[in-house]
Amino acid sequence: MTDDTDIHELDEDTVARIAAGEVVERPASAVKELVENSLDADASRVEVAVEEGGTESIRVADDGHGMTEADLRAAVRQHTTSKIEGLEDLESGVRTLGFRGEALHTIGSVSRLTIRSRPRDGSEAGTELVYEGGDVTSVEPAGCPEGTVVEVEDLFYNTPARRKFLKTTATEFAHVNRVVTRYALANPDVAVSLVHDSREVFATTGQGDLQAAVLSVYGREVASAMIPVEVDEEDLPPGPVDSVSGLVSHPETNRSSREYLATYVNDRAVTSDAIREGIMGAYGTQLGSDRYPFVTLFLEVPSEAVDVNVHPRKREVRFDDDDAVRRQVDSAVESALLEHGLLRSRAPRG
Ligand code: ADP
Ligand code: MG
Repeated sequence: MTDDTDIHELDEDTVARIAAGEVVERPASAVKELVENSLDADASRVEVAVEEGGTESIRVADDGHGMTEADLRAAVRQHTTSKIEGLEDLESGVRTLGFRGEALHTIGSVSRLTIRSRPRDGSEAGTELVYEGGDVTSVEPAGCPEGTVVEVEDLFYNTPARRKFLKTTATEFAHVNRVVTRYALANPDVAVSLVHDSREVFATTGQGDLQAAVLSVYGREVASAMIPVEVDEEDLPPGPVDSVSGLVSHPETNRSSREYLATYVNDRAVTSDAIREGIMGAYGTQLGSDRYPFVTLFLEVPSEAVDVNVHPRKREVRFDDDDAVRRQVDSAVESALLEHGLLRSRAPRG
């Protein structure tokens, strides 16, 4: 008898909510996806406002290229994207931050999601779409400026187990702050602001360079302790990295958390043991144990030497040759520190 089995297909709703947990772990993951969408939409202004660490509400407003009504309806469906056509685009190295086409759908299946958008094409009005627990519940014309506003309310209201898993407001907000900070530093030409419970946490001008963004985000003390790193291939040891650039702090300006190591590969915020070990190796004994500098460092790497098609929640990247990357980063940061007289000489390493 073919029916005599306990194995059955899950209904769509259940599948969606389980999948949602993989992409959206906490408010900061929703913030990350929304900010990435704004940057991919070529915004010059991205305003993030959250309440109670993002557990009550998240609002991301941009002045990017916006969406038509048809775009909005398509955008909240599963696996819909305007960013890639197929696998070839992935292999050749996508430069957009998103490409999986699942963020809006997923966030909307575990929250009450409202999107207002008006395209830049001269449309007179925009559209407001409401998506609740996985269903489009309303689509109406709306007066709004060009660009997009996404509001996420009551995240995980229909997945109580996950809701219970959320940490304190302070912890959830710390994660949100870190995500928005990384994008603000990587995009000094975009005005990025962050508001928590109606208090402005930081705002970059969108008109400065990396140094100006560091000043807006971390304040004067840290900004004044930063020195530039700018090393191209010909001055790096052999390895996949084409260039290393950014800012690193004087050894005396350090913290007890890795949180201030902001590292990027091809403009994507990543963590990598190889990059971190390279940085820490350069500082050597100048830093006490468990002390970390402020670092905002950008690596350019040919797309074939690094895998970007990683799980959305994982920011860890792997290189073909981790050892070479570690040596290259070490050398780039060391030469910047040496140039500024910030290193005691050290024994050469192999
Ligand atoms: P992905 O970013 O992987 O394409 P998303 O679910 O995050 O998938 O978004 C689906 C689509 O909706 C995007 O490909 C884009 O066309 C559109 N979109 C999302 N957010 C915005 C935004 N802020 N401005 C303009 N278009 C957007
Ligand atoms: Mg996206």
